Amino acid sequence: MRILVVEDDPDLSRQLSEALKDTGYAVDVADNGEDGHFMGDTEPYDAVILDLGLPVIDGISVLQKWRADGKTFPVLILTARDQWSEKVSGFDAGADDYLTKPFHHEELLARLRALMRRAAGHTTDSIEIGGLMVDNRAARCFVDGMPIKLTSHEFRLLSYMATHKGRVISRTELVEHIYDQDFDRDSNTIEVFVGRLRRKIGTDRIETVRGLGYRLIDPDNAAAKK
Ligand code: CA
Repeated sequence: MRILVVEDDPDLSRQLSEALKDTGYAVDVADNGEDGHFMGDTEPYDAVILDLGLPVIDGISVLQKWRADGKTFPVLILTARDQWSEKVSGFDAGADDYLTKPFHHEELLARLRALMRRAAGHTTDSIEIGGLMVDNRAARCFVDGMPIKLTSHEFRLLSYMATHKGRVISRTELVEHIYDQDFDRDSNTIEVFVGRLRRKIGTDRIETVRGLGYRLIDPDNAAAKK
């Protein structure tokens, strides 16, 4: 999962970015409304954390522009003061949730997970598919109850596929959702990650759909259909 943080307070931005990376997300940051708007406009984020008091373009205007352009990613707004009118303007502009500063990082992470699972149509942080369990809260994975050790990139890849299980996902889409913008992106490395994941979770759990991409499947159900 890939998150955009638009926040002009350098300390808060750095803390948020570190907390999100530690949790296993790819993170991009912007420190003003103009850059933040551009990034949200051009990259397919899984969720956005948006401060309302921003230089150049304010947060409410950024959000209004995204929604007017049809951007549907979940947006959590950060409000500096406990002002009800700011929250109302935020929701009217298309925000999905809010937090008032200061806040605990744990609460932000929990709200973010809730937003992303709702957006993907799941009700819990754990996604199960044919004995494979992906726990997005703890960033862990189990096969038939046994914990599997994954690198952060492997987990991001698996988490994205599990969130969209049963759907064919192209290499480009995977690249866009597991790397931040500073990473040297190469869709060939996706094949390498998929190969490593298959060795760890079982080769028949990730189906290659020729010319289209990959699909996370329940190997028993797939066998039954053939
Ligand atoms: Ca601010």
